[in-house]
Amino acid sequence: MAESSQMGLAARVKSAAPTIDVLAVRTPTLPPATHTNTFLVGTGQAVLVEPATPYQDEQDLMVDWVESARGRGVEPVAILATHHHPDHIGGAVALCERLGLPLWGHAMTAERLSGIVELDRLLEDGERIELGGPTKTALTAVHTPGHAPGHLCFVDEASGIMIAGDMVASVGTIIVEPTDGDMTLYLESLRRMASLEPVALLPAHGDLIADPQAILSFYIAHRLMREGKVLGALEAHGGPARPSDLVARAYDDTPEALWPLALRSLEAHLIKLEREGRITREGDRWSP
Ligand SMILES: [Zn+2]
Repeated sequence: MAESSQMGLAARVKSAAPTIDVLAVRTPTLPPATHTNTFLVGTGQAVLVEPATPYQDEQDLMVDWVESARGRGVEPVAILATHHHPDHIGGAVALCERLGLPLWGHAMTAERLSGIVELDRLLEDGERIELGGPTKTALTAVHTPGHAPGHLCFVDEASGIMIAGDMVASVGTIIVEPTDGDMTLYLESLRRMASLEPVALLPAHGDLIADPQAILSFYIAHRLMREGKVLGALEAHGGPARPSDLVARAYDDTPEALWPLALRSLEAHLIKLEREGRITREGDRWSP
């Protein structure tokens, strides 16, 4: 390993807990975020979470990171994917090959990655990955659909910290849109995360979140506030409306530049409201 790269590595790796190291790598993610956090969990047996970066220089850094851990007796047994989005699995093929590690994730992630990346083991909700070493720990997989169908969070037993993927973020916002997302499931998953009472959350984008209950309650309240505005916009519109007829009113507190993204979220809200029997749909038009 080149000395300059080792210095770069030392400056960029942070410790979130005695059992969790964090390295934020540059990824093609949603602005204002520019990086995705990757994690090395374990003090003997270990796992690498989020093979995120498609960029060669950042993959080189991740390889140096794992090799330097191996030099200290920390030996990853697998790479874990929280979900299938490109800013989370962009380095999966290269990193699995270069590090000689298998890729593990949820069955629905495997389905979405079919033809792109092959998963070597499917992890189910509640599955526990034991990691021996000087400080023994285990990671428990928690299936949290809503942002992506196969989304997994991972709770580190030794620290009580939850690796939260794209369920929450301390930089930018979480997209819940009908292709991959589901607003009903997203809210259920946020409540489930809160019920597990993690000590802290490590999101994929931004810093550690020290007060999980506060942010999870805020996220739930914020989505329900938006749902109320979507319903209000539909009622104000009167007749059958397309999502584009509602966005100006439902997102009147959001810069217009974000409305194209907001439209996708608005549709996810409409689908939830329809499912609950609170509105009806005919073709691409919705009515109160
Ligand atoms: Zn995502």
